[in-house]
Amino acid sequence: MPESVAIVGAGVAGAAAAIRLAERGVAVDLYEAVPEPKPIGAGLLLQPTGQRVLTAMGLLDEALALGTRVDRLFGDTPSGRAVLDMSYRRFHPEAYGLGIQRGALMGMLWKRVRELGVRWHCGALVEGFEQDEAGVTLRLSGGAKARHAALILANGSFSRLREGMKVSQHARAFPWGAVWTVLPAPPGFPQIELRQRFRSASQMIGLMPVGRADHADGARGINLFWSLPVAELEGWRERVGLDRIKQQMAELFPDVLPLLAGLRDAGQLREARYADVHMARWHDGRVLAIGDCAHGMSPQLGQGANMALIDAHELASEVGGDWPGVFERYGRRRRAHLRFYGQASKGLTPMFQSHAVVAPWLRDRFFGWGGRLPYVHQQSIAVLAGYKTGWLWGRLKLAGC
Ligand SMILES: Cc1cc2nc3c(=O)[nH]c(=O)nc-3n(C[C@H](O)[C@H](O)[C@H](O)COP(=O)(O)OP(=O)(O)OC[C@H]3O[C@@H](n4cnc5c(N)ncnc54)[C@H](O)[C@@H]3O)c2cc1C
Repeated sequence: MPESVAIVGAGVAGAAAAIRLAERGVAVDLYEAVPEPKPIGAGLLLQPTGQRVLTAMGLLDEALALGTRVDRLFGDTPSGRAVLDMSYRRFHPEAYGLGIQRGALMGMLWKRVRELGVRWHCGALVEGFEQDEAGVTLRLSGGAKARHAALILANGSFSRLREGMKVSQHARAFPWGAVWTVLPAPPGFPQIELRQRFRSASQMIGLMPVGRADHADGARGINLFWSLPVAELEGWRERVGLDRIKQQMAELFPDVLPLLAGLRDAGQLREARYADVHMARWHDGRVLAIGDCAHGMSPQLGQGANMALIDAHELASEVGGDWPGVFERYGRRRRAHLRFYGQASKGLTPMFQSHAVVAPWLRDRFFGWGGRLPYVHQQSIAVLAGYKTGWLWGRLKLAGC
């Protein structure tokens, strides 16, 4: 009988699951397609719920030393109309968002993966799998095979392996993406708030403090996010060019000018695409999907990495007995939370990234006004903080926290 569990993908979901399972004494093999994974990626805002998972892993202090506490989210229109004004402190005096570079988070997670003795196979592209009553056989590129007791798919929104699960599912590439980069914060640049400026839903710039890339890096970074339709992402460097994009950013939000001085080369801007993923359930016998592979969503709500950490934590809390049973119990634990955030993401994203006219008009008229009502503000921050499990009531209870 194979003993170890295979995890495919060493992103936030796969690395965190490897850590939490190894901590519970499970033998783990982690397969990653990239030969030499590098700690890179966009800035992330980790919510209080995800921070609790980092605390459970003993990693929150290090994450705080690398990242930055974000107290407030503020977004407005060019005419100065406040659309979003949310403060974590008004939700709870000790709550904050943790702005961190994905690379810094991955560096911490991968270090812990190694410390725990997880067998990590880099440059191992998993091409398919077959399962039977006793285990799962992975097919690796190059023809090799590997046998495991169970398989956890954590290989992102665009996973093709997911299609091998006999579960009703659909994945839709989102029509909007973004270019983003992390730039050094100019002296005096605000370090405590996530700042957004919107023109309708067709233009958006976001600035988020994200701290340092690693312990050796003295410079604190600001993550710059510029929304673009996917159709315009293709070949934007040749068609539009860096100068024009910088000009558009400065026209929308002149305060960004000191930061843009650090943007000298189009190669600094990376492209991001995402997909909405829906699965009727996340397990099929001995195979489970987690992270973006299971429930990819647009980054508007800032929940993807947060959800990946929670998935890993909740999965480990169910370990015991046979794997199909573990996966089924995990699915029951996660259902309400993931269903709520899938719906919220689908509902809110067109208000921020689309060519729609009515939805952003309503956003501009009512979000700022509604946010001034204490109850609405409290609920909005509860959504952002990752606590909601239903539209009217329901609050996430993390196992053992
Ligand atoms: C611009 C942007 C901003 C974001 N902002 C936030 C935010 O503020 N807060 C937040 O919580 N989330 C945010 N997110 C979302 C967050 O980054 C993701 O939800 C999170 O990183 C998902 O991690 P994952 O491990 O599920 O998938 P991924 O990070 O996609 O990792 C998948 C891994 O699987 C590997 N892989 C793929 N196929 C195979 C295969 N066949 N065999 C072996 N390996 C394979 C890949 O190489 C990769 O390493 C943002 C995303 C973007 C794009």
